Amino acid sequence: MIDTNANVLLIYTGGTIGMVENPESGALEPFNFSHLRSNMPEIKRLNFNVETYLFDPPFDSSDVSIAIWRHMVNVIEVNYERYDGFVILHGTDTMAYTASVLSFMLENLTKPVILTGSQLPIGKLRTDGKENLITALEIAADKDEKGGAVVPELCIYMQKLLMRGNRTTKVNADHFSAFRSPNYPCLAEAGLDIRYNNSSILQPETELPVRFNYELDRNMVVLKLFPGISREVVRAHLTIPGVRGVVLETYGTGNSPINPWFMELVRDAVERRVVVVNVTQCLYGSVMMHRYENGQRLEKIGVISGHDITTEAALGKLMALFGKGCTPEEVKQLMQYSLRGELTVKG
Ligand code: ASP
Repeated sequence: MIDTNANVLLIYTGGTIGMVENPESGALEPFNFSHLRSNMPEIKRLNFNVETYLFDPPFDSSDVSIAIWRHMVNVIEVNYERYDGFVILHGTDTMAYTASVLSFMLENLTKPVILTGSQLPIGKLRTDGKENLITALEIAADKDEKGGAVVPELCIYMQKLLMRGNRTTKVNADHFSAFRSPNYPCLAEAGLDIRYNNSSILQPETELPVRFNYELDRNMVVLKLFPGISREVVRAHLTIPGVRGVVLETYGTGNSPINPWFMELVRDAVERRVVVVNVTQCLYGSVMMHRYENGQRLEKIGVISGHDITTEAALGKLMALFGKGCTPEEVKQLMQYSLRGELTVKG
């Protein structure tokens, strides 16, 4: 039920939704918010209050950085009491990374924070941006019978689907349906009405205060295995000075080669207290290291399972946990628990 007294803060960071074509180069470039607003008179027709915060200058999301993530968290912290929900307009290219890391930077959320954007600029007749933006705003303003937020989570809304942010990944460069939540059901679907999947939505621990965590540790590596990968490449990744966490993208249910040089390099990293998290390269399904000998070897030398977590969420979680000052042993433990619904731990 839309609360007509609701206040929603629309945070414009950039992305295709607000871009215009440079007449000389033909490339899409970020443009200012007045352009977006003049193409979205519909916002004024919503029966609740929408105010805006602008990132100036707006940016292509390929330029997102730790400093920008902190800025986003700060905008939410400063405005948390005044608003019932937040919508962040963001480019789609790195939206799943931003959604994942913000879900760990924002702790004990009681209000919706919804990222959305579009694949076609808002000025184009066939834009997907209008529906994405209007529905995201409506979800951000939606309340249950007790007056609490219907979706007190960090989400992505795109093309009729509301997804838990840290479960998403961008799967399509040119379709309007650019995102998937492969291992977790969608939180809502928009048709004639918005149908919420209430049993899948996280309920906040209302007795715990909301916390805004700003510190992220950037000393992380994503190492994607491929047949024929050389010892030099693996060694170079695992011995980068200062590296603290590795997202090891393995095959299938969490398998890697078992040749001695590979195992030795990984064991050596683990012995140096580098946290190595096993994440499958498959879009769907989970790591189960006990299933094959190759996976078992990784488990034995101290690689930990990422279960069905995405690479984006594993990376954001490692950055946030080390950023909070956790020891490698604590990080190892916490990586195997669901903190924000980012993974499914099977018994
Ligand atoms: N390059 C754009 C961005 O991520 C693409 C988009 O918004 O869809 O900012």
